Amino acid sequence: MKAGEVRGKRFSVFGGARSGVAVAKLLKRHGARVFLSDKAAAEKMAQVAVELEAAGIDYEFGVNSERVLEGDVVVLSPGVPSDVPLVKESLAKGLKVTSEVEVASWFCMAPIVAITGTNGKTTTTTLTGRMFQDEKRECVVAGNIGTAFSQVVDQVGSDGAAVLEISSFQLDHIESFKPKIAVWLNITPDHLDRYDHSYEKYIESKCRIFKNQTAHDVLIYNVDDKTERSYVEKLAPPSVRKMAFSIHSKVDEGAFVQAGHLRTRMDGREEVVIGTDQISVRGMHNLYNAMAATLAARVMGTSTASIRATLKNFKGVEHRLELIREVNGVAYVNDSKATNVDSVWYALQSFDRPIVLFLGGRDKGNDYSRLTDPVKKHVRAIIAIGESADKVTKAFASIVSVVTAANMEEAVKIATRTATSGDVVLLSPACASFDWFENYEHRGRVFKQLVRELSPN
Ligand code: ADP
Repeated sequence: MKAGEVRGKRFSVFGGARSGVAVAKLLKRHGARVFLSDKAAAEKMAQVAVELEAAGIDYEFGVNSERVLEGDVVVLSPGVPSDVPLVKESLAKGLKVTSEVEVASWFCMAPIVAITGTNGKTTTTTLTGRMFQDEKRECVVAGNIGTAFSQVVDQVGSDGAAVLEISSFQLDHIESFKPKIAVWLNITPDHLDRYDHSYEKYIESKCRIFKNQTAHDVLIYNVDDKTERSYVEKLAPPSVRKMAFSIHSKVDEGAFVQAGHLRTRMDGREEVVIGTDQISVRGMHNLYNAMAATLAARVMGTSTASIRATLKNFKGVEHRLELIREVNGVAYVNDSKATNVDSVWYALQSFDRPIVLFLGGRDKGNDYSRLTDPVKKHVRAIIAIGESADKVTKAFASIVSVVTAANMEEAVKIATRTATSGDVVLLSPACASFDWFENYEHRGRVFKQLVRELSPN
């Protein structure tokens, strides 16, 4: 559908969180008849009700009634799984079912830079946005990152850029969403509960990011990631311009590392961007993120000098390998956003000092075998936290000391006793946080507060 076809059409928006409300308002502004439905109790939605009423949007809370089926188009918020009965019914009835980013993209004048992957999306999206902002280019940074695309799509014109963090859920049900630049960072199993426990389906969902790209568009991908590479080779449109990034080998077109420098090669022209030791975010994973962001910004015409300055200054995002402070020679690092095994694997490669690791929480079916070697190599002790403490203990007790803590306060106490000067105490739990905390931010904040309260000897 195009922006001009929206007027007078009936849209049912499923889900009244940030992106649902934003898309409802966007559609309403453009003349659509909009109805929003959310199962959450009306008391919880009081503020949303005020906002919707002010915009003249019809809504229901506490149920998802059949009225949803009266729309011409159903718009799903990313939090709504595709298998809820009314969504299935909508599909069976032949209604168009689409997603919030798809709808927002109909109204977008600016070229879209869409960034996806299992890990690194927020970091890379923020960094890419910063590269544009540092060069004083008009841009919006939105998507899965906190601000809905629908909320800001009107704020950027054709000379600017819309830099979007895109999750696999947002790619389910896209139709014409077409990034000028698609960035695919990496792929490892995650969120499989939403994909019939099929890794293949999860990967295919990520591949939707490039399905509408054509010869004028660019696909930036991680050639070191074998799974990803095979899917790009198999499914990317043949005409799209592909740019690879790699730490391990030189690439014909893209970014790579040689002699300690991040380099780009575009149209046969090579450039040194920066010494890898000058990039301020640490770790191999961030080198990947830096390469991906550099390519996206270069393709969009940002100067190498400006990119270099941004890479030197960008300090990363809260809750991602965030150094809190040093106490008695021990560095305390908050990586609460590490909610899967792969992100912990990278965290463990990021320090050349012994690590006391906080591991555990709500387990999403983790296979810890991938961590055996790095734990042997880098970890002095594990402090098992959360619901999955027993599973963590079983997985690691034979290779390293594992102690269970009953809460975060106790975990920090044990850590201060266990770590010696020169160590890192790292919260990188490989699990979701909902057992002890509201979300990963809450977990990270509690940890940071406890660390701030430590007193030096
Ligand atoms: P996302 O938005 O995809 O969840 P974030 O940037 O929020 O990604 O980072 C999530 C976690 O993954 C953090 O623990 C971070 O240190 C780690 N991480 C960041 N980039 C990568 C990457 N390229 N590969 C693996 N892990 C990464």
